[in-house]
Amino acid sequence: MTTPVNAEVVRIRHRVCGEHPGEISLDVAKIILSQHAGHGEHCLQFLGALNRASVVCGEAAVTSLLRHSRPGRREEYGQEV
Ligand SMILES: [Zn+2]
Repeated sequence: MTTPVNAEVVRIRHRVCGEHPGEISLDVAKIILSQHAGHGEHCLQFLGALNRASVVCGEAAVTSLLRHSRPGRREEYGQEV
């Protein structure tokens, strides 16, 4: 049996963008995603929640994207590969 999630408690507990959300349920991840939407790539709450939500598909999509990114892609940003 799962305990219902109190959205207000989640918003307070996960309000700081610079902190990683840690181990969270899918329901908590959904709340964090809505709370931190648009904060950008430096929001650890959003990235952690996105990673948790993508696990539903079998593998973390963020991890998968990083693994399958094109090898030469970094050259586009002026960095050596
Ligand atoms: Zn944020």
